[in-house]
Amino acid sequence: MARPIAIVSAMHEELHALLPLVDGVQSIIVAGRTFHVGRLHAQPVVLVLSGIGKVAAATTAALLIDRFDAPALLFTGVAGGLHADVAVGDVVVARTLLQHDLDASPLFPRYEVPLTGRSRFEADTALADALADAARRCLASDAAGHAAGPAPLWTAGRPRRVHEGLIVSGDRFVSSAAESARLRADLPQALAVEMEGAALAQVCADFGRPFAVLRSISDRADDTAHVDFARFVAEVASVYTRAIVGDWLARRIAAR
Ligand code: SAH
Repeated sequence: MARPIAIVSAMHEELHALLPLVDGVQSIIVAGRTFHVGRLHAQPVVLVLSGIGKVAAATTAALLIDRFDAPALLFTGVAGGLHADVAVGDVVVARTLLQHDLDASPLFPRYEVPLTGRSRFEADTALADALADAARRCLASDAAGHAAGPAPLWTAGRPRRVHEGLIVSGDRFVSSAAESARLRADLPQALAVEMEGAALAQVCADFGRPFAVLRSISDRADDTAHVDFARFVAEVASVYTRAIVGDWLARRIAAR
Protein backbone atom coordinates (compact mmCIF):
# COMPACT_ATOMS: atom_id res chain seq x y z
CA MET A 1 0.00 0.00 0.00
CA ALA A 2 1.09 3.59 -0.63
CA ARG A 3 2.56 5.49 2.29
CA PRO A 4 -0.29 6.54 4.61
CA ILE A 5 -0.92 10.11 5.73
CA ALA A 6 -0.97 10.16 9.54
CA ILE A 7 -3.88 11.66 11.42
CA VAL A 8 -3.16 11.91 15.13
CA SER A 9 -5.83 12.69 17.71
CA ALA A 10 -5.27 13.50 21.36
CA MET A 11 -8.69 12.32 22.37
CA HIS A 12 -10.82 9.27 21.91
CA GLU A 13 -13.88 11.20 20.69
CA GLU A 14 -11.95 12.69 17.80
CA LEU A 15 -10.40 9.46 16.68
CA HIS A 16 -13.86 7.90 16.75
CA ALA A 17 -15.30 10.75 14.69
CA LEU A 18 -13.05 9.63 11.82
CA LEU A 19 -12.54 5.91 12.32
CA PRO A 20 -16.00 4.78 11.08
CA LEU A 21 -15.25 6.55 7.76
CA VAL A 22 -12.05 4.58 7.15
CA ASP A 23 -12.32 1.67 4.69
CA GLY A 24 -10.54 -1.65 5.08
CA VAL A 25 -9.16 -0.88 8.51
CA GLN A 26 -6.30 -2.98 9.81
CA SER A 27 -5.24 -2.34 13.38
CA ILE A 28 -1.63 -2.69 14.45
CA ILE A 29 -0.56 -2.30 18.07
CA VAL A 30 2.86 -0.79 18.78
CA ALA A 31 4.03 0.62 22.13
CA GLY A 32 0.54 0.44 23.58
CA ARG A 33 -0.99 2.45 20.75
CA THR A 34 -3.39 1.10 18.15
CA PHE A 35 -2.54 2.32 14.66
CA HIS A 36 -5.54 2.04 12.33
CA VAL A 37 -4.40 1.71 8.72
CA GLY A 38 -6.91 2.03 5.85
CA ARG A 39 -8.34 4.48 3.32
CA LEU A 40 -10.21 7.68 3.99
CA HIS A 41 -11.66 9.43 0.93
CA ALA A 42 -9.60 6.93 -1.09
CA GLN A 43 -6.40 8.26 0.49
CA PRO A 44 -4.17 5.82 2.41
CA VAL A 45 -4.21 6.90 6.05
CA VAL A 46 -3.06 5.78 9.45
CA LEU A 47 -5.12 7.03 12.40
CA VAL A 48 -3.90 6.88 15.97
CA LEU A 49 -4.66 8.16 19.43
CA SER A 50 -1.48 9.77 20.75
CA GLY A 51 -2.58 10.19 24.32
CA ILE A 52 -2.17 13.48 26.11
CA GLY A 53 1.04 15.44 26.62
CA LYS A 54 4.36 16.07 24.88
CA VAL A 55 6.01 12.71 25.48
CA ALA A 56 2.96 10.79 24.27
CA ALA A 57 2.86 12.93 21.14
CA ALA A 58 6.60 12.58 20.49
CA THR A 59 6.54 8.77 20.80
CA THR A 60 3.55 8.60 18.48
CA ALA A 61 5.14 10.88 15.88
CA ALA A 62 8.40 8.91 15.89
CA LEU A 63 6.52 5.64 15.34
CA LEU A 64 4.40 7.11 12.56
CA ILE A 65 7.51 8.21 10.73
CA ASP A 66 9.82 5.30 11.44
CA ARG A 67 7.41 2.34 11.35
CA PHE A 68 4.68 3.59 9.03
CA ASP A 69 6.79 5.95 6.89
CA ALA A 70 3.98 8.54 6.96
CA PRO A 71 4.80 11.19 4.33
CA ALA A 72 2.92 13.86 6.31
CA LEU A 73 1.44 14.13 9.80
CA LEU A 74 -1.67 15.99 10.89
CA PHE A 75 -2.51 16.52 14.54
CA THR A 76 -6.15 17.30 15.28
CA GLY A 77 -7.44 18.25 18.68
CA VAL A 78 -8.75 20.95 20.94
CA ALA A 79 -6.91 23.82 22.61
CA GLY A 80 -7.41 26.70 24.98
CA GLY A 81 -7.70 30.16 23.41
CA LEU A 82 -5.04 32.61 24.63
CA HIS A 83 -5.13 35.61 22.31
CA ALA A 84 -8.01 38.04 22.93
CA ASP A 85 -9.42 37.39 19.43
CA VAL A 86 -9.57 33.61 19.80
CA ALA A 87 -12.98 32.48 21.08
CA VAL A 88 -14.47 29.12 21.99
CA GLY A 89 -15.69 27.47 18.77
CA ASP A 90 -12.97 29.09 16.61
CA VAL A 91 -10.37 27.01 14.77
CA VAL A 92 -6.62 27.60 14.91
CA VAL A 93 -4.17 26.28 12.31
CA ALA A 94 -0.57 26.38 13.52
CA ARG A 95 2.05 28.16 11.43
CA THR A 96 4.64 27.96 14.22
CA LEU A 97 4.87 25.99 17.47
CA LEU A 98 6.86 26.43 20.66
CA GLN A 99 7.11 24.59 24.01
CA HIS A 100 6.04 27.16 26.58
CA ASP A 101 7.26 25.05 29.52
CA LEU A 102 10.78 24.45 28.16
CA ASP A 103 13.29 26.53 30.11
CA ALA A 104 16.96 25.56 30.43
CA SER A 105 18.00 29.13 31.22
CA PRO A 106 20.52 30.47 31.99
CA LEU A 107 22.34 27.75 30.06
CA PHE A 108 20.15 28.32 27.00
CA PRO A 109 17.65 31.04 26.13
CA ARG A 110 14.18 30.44 27.54
CA TYR A 111 12.05 28.14 25.28
CA GLU A 112 15.07 26.99 23.26
CA VAL A 113 15.36 23.23 22.71
CA PRO A 114 18.87 22.77 24.13
CA LEU A 115 21.63 22.22 21.58
CA THR A 116 19.39 22.86 18.59
CA GLY A 117 19.50 26.66 18.67
CA ARG A 118 15.78 26.86 18.06
CA SER A 119 12.61 27.37 20.01
CA ARG A 120 10.10 27.68 17.16
CA PHE A 121 9.17 24.97 14.71
CA GLU A 122 7.33 25.76 11.47
CA ALA A 123 4.43 23.75 10.15
CA ASP A 124 4.53 22.81 6.48
CA THR A 125 3.25 25.81 4.51
CA ALA A 126 1.31 23.90 1.87
CA LEU A 127 -0.35 21.61 4.43
CA ALA A 128 -1.27 24.52 6.71
CA ASP A 129 -2.61 26.49 3.72
CA ALA A 130 -4.80 23.58 2.63
CA LEU A 131 -6.09 22.96 6.16
CA ALA A 132 -6.88 26.61 6.80
CA ASP A 133 -8.80 26.73 3.51
CA ALA A 134 -10.69 23.55 4.46
CA ALA A 135 -11.43 25.00 7.91
CA ARG A 136 -12.77 28.25 6.42
CA ARG A 137 -15.01 26.34 4.02
CA CYS A 138 -16.34 24.13 6.81
CA LEU A 139 -17.02 26.93 9.26
CA ALA A 140 -18.90 28.77 6.56
CA SER A 141 -20.93 25.71 5.59
CA ASP A 142 -24.20 24.51 7.06
CA ALA A 143 -22.62 21.29 8.31
CA ALA A 144 -20.26 22.93 10.76
CA GLY A 145 -22.77 25.67 11.54
CA HIS A 146 -25.23 23.02 12.57
CA ALA A 147 -22.68 21.43 14.88
CA ALA A 148 -22.31 24.56 16.92
CA GLY A 149 -25.68 26.04 16.09
CA PRO A 150 -27.95 25.03 18.94
CA ALA A 151 -25.46 25.97 21.66
CA PRO A 152 -24.83 29.73 21.78
CA LEU A 153 -22.04 29.01 24.24
CA TRP A 154 -19.85 27.89 21.35
CA THR A 155 -20.45 30.89 19.12
CA ALA A 156 -19.24 33.77 21.34
CA GLY A 157 -21.99 35.86 19.76
CA ARG A 158 -20.17 36.17 16.43
CA PRO A 159 -19.36 33.95 13.48
CA ARG A 160 -16.65 31.44 14.25
CA ARG A 161 -13.23 32.27 12.82
CA VAL A 162 -10.15 30.52 11.54
CA HIS A 163 -6.86 31.88 12.95
CA GLU A 164 -3.35 31.05 11.78
CA GLY A 165 -0.17 31.58 13.78
CA LEU A 166 1.66 30.52 16.93
CA ILE A 167 0.39 27.60 19.03
CA VAL A 168 2.22 26.88 22.29
CA SER A 169 2.40 23.48 23.97
CA GLY A 170 3.32 22.29 27.44
CA ASP A 171 2.63 19.52 29.92
CA ARG A 172 -0.03 21.54 31.74
CA PHE A 173 -3.76 21.89 31.29
CA VAL A 174 -3.93 25.68 31.60
CA SER A 175 -6.99 26.31 33.71
CA SER A 176 -6.54 29.54 35.60
CA ALA A 177 -6.89 33.13 34.50
CA ALA A 178 -3.57 33.92 36.20
CA GLU A 179 -1.66 31.30 34.24
CA SER A 180 -3.16 32.23 30.88
CA ALA A 181 -2.47 35.92 31.60
CA ARG A 182 1.16 34.99 32.29
CA LEU A 183 1.40 33.08 29.01
CA ARG A 184 -0.17 35.99 27.13
CA ALA A 185 2.33 38.41 28.69
CA ASP A 186 5.35 36.17 27.96
CA LEU A 187 4.23 35.13 24.47
CA PRO A 188 1.94 37.85 23.11
CA GLN A 189 1.74 36.22 19.66
CA ALA A 190 0.40 32.93 21.00
CA LEU A 191 -3.08 32.19 19.72
CA ALA A 192 -3.76 28.99 21.65
CA VAL A 193 -2.31 26.60 24.21
CA GLU A 194 -2.38 22.81 24.14
CA MET A 195 -0.27 19.86 25.23
CA GLU A 196 1.11 18.05 22.16
CA GLY A 197 1.65 20.12 19.00
CA ALA A 198 5.15 21.46 19.58
CA ALA A 199 6.43 18.01 20.57
CA LEU A 200 5.16 16.50 17.34
CA ALA A 201 6.71 19.49 15.54
CA GLN A 202 10.15 18.85 17.07
CA VAL A 203 10.10 15.18 16.09
CA CYS A 204 8.96 16.02 12.55
CA ALA A 205 11.79 18.58 12.29
CA ASP A 206 14.31 15.91 13.34
CA PHE A 207 13.06 13.59 10.61
CA GLY A 208 12.46 16.35 8.05
CA ARG A 209 8.82 15.31 7.69
CA PRO A 210 6.02 17.79 6.89
CA PHE A 211 3.30 18.24 9.50
CA ALA A 212 0.37 20.44 10.44
CA VAL A 213 -1.63 21.06 13.61
CA LEU A 214 -5.35 21.85 13.60
CA ARG A 215 -7.13 22.79 16.83
CA SER A 216 -10.67 23.77 17.72
CA ILE A 217 -10.90 26.07 20.70
CA SER A 218 -12.64 24.26 23.55
CA ASP A 219 -11.99 26.78 26.32
CA ARG A 220 -10.26 30.06 27.14
CA ALA A 221 -7.55 28.47 29.36
CA ASP A 222 -9.03 30.24 32.38
CA ASP A 223 -10.82 29.30 35.60
CA THR A 224 -13.75 27.80 33.66
CA ALA A 225 -11.57 25.83 31.21
CA HIS A 226 -12.81 22.48 32.51
CA VAL A 227 -16.51 23.38 32.26
CA ASP A 228 -18.30 21.58 29.42
CA PHE A 229 -14.91 20.51 28.03
CA ALA A 230 -16.05 16.91 27.41
CA ARG A 231 -19.28 18.07 25.81
CA PHE A 232 -17.39 20.42 23.53
CA VAL A 233 -15.04 17.66 22.40
CA ALA A 234 -17.86 15.22 21.70
CA GLU A 235 -20.37 17.59 20.12
CA VAL A 236 -18.35 20.27 18.41
CA ALA A 237 -14.67 19.43 18.00
CA SER A 238 -15.36 15.94 16.65
CA VAL A 239 -17.78 17.30 14.08
CA TYR A 240 -15.27 19.94 13.01
CA THR A 241 -12.51 17.37 12.74
CA ARG A 242 -14.64 15.12 10.56
CA ALA A 243 -15.74 17.99 8.29
CA ILE A 244 -12.35 19.71 7.97
CA VAL A 245 -10.21 16.59 7.56
CA GLY A 246 -12.76 15.15 5.10
CA ASP A 247 -12.77 18.31 2.99
CA TRP A 248 -8.96 18.52 3.08
CA LEU A 249 -8.42 14.88 2.04
CA ALA A 250 -11.10 14.95 -0.65
CA ARG A 251 -9.48 18.01 -2.27
CA ARG A 252 -6.03 16.53 -1.92
CA ILE A 253 -7.19 13.60 -4.02
CA ALA A 254 -9.01 15.82 -6.51
CA ALA A 255 -5.86 17.92 -6.98
CA ARG A 256 -3.82 14.91 -8.10
N1 SAH B 1 -10.29 16.36 31.23
C1 SAH B 1 -9.81 15.90 29.97
C2 SAH B 1 -8.35 16.16 29.92
C3 SAH B 1 -7.95 16.63 28.63
S1 SAH B 1 -6.41 17.38 28.71
C4 SAH B 1 -10.15 14.44 29.80
O1 SAH B 1 -10.69 13.90 30.71
O2 SAH B 1 -9.92 13.87 28.74
C5 SAH B 1 -6.63 18.56 27.54
C6 SAH B 1 -6.43 18.17 26.10
O3 SAH B 1 -6.97 19.21 25.30
C7 SAH B 1 -5.00 18.04 25.71
O4 SAH B 1 -4.87 17.07 24.69
C8 SAH B 1 -4.62 19.45 25.22
O5 SAH B 1 -3.84 19.41 24.05
C9 SAH B 1 -5.96 20.12 24.91
N2 SAH B 1 -6.31 21.36 25.65
C10 SAH B 1 -7.54 21.95 25.57
N3 SAH B 1 -7.59 23.03 26.36
C11 SAH B 1 -6.38 23.15 26.95
C12 SAH B 1 -5.85 24.08 27.90
N4 SAH B 1 -6.58 25.06 28.41
N5 SAH B 1 -4.57 23.90 28.32
C13 SAH B 1 -3.83 22.87 27.82
N6 SAH B 1 -4.30 21.96 26.93
C14 SAH B 1 -5.55 22.09 26.48
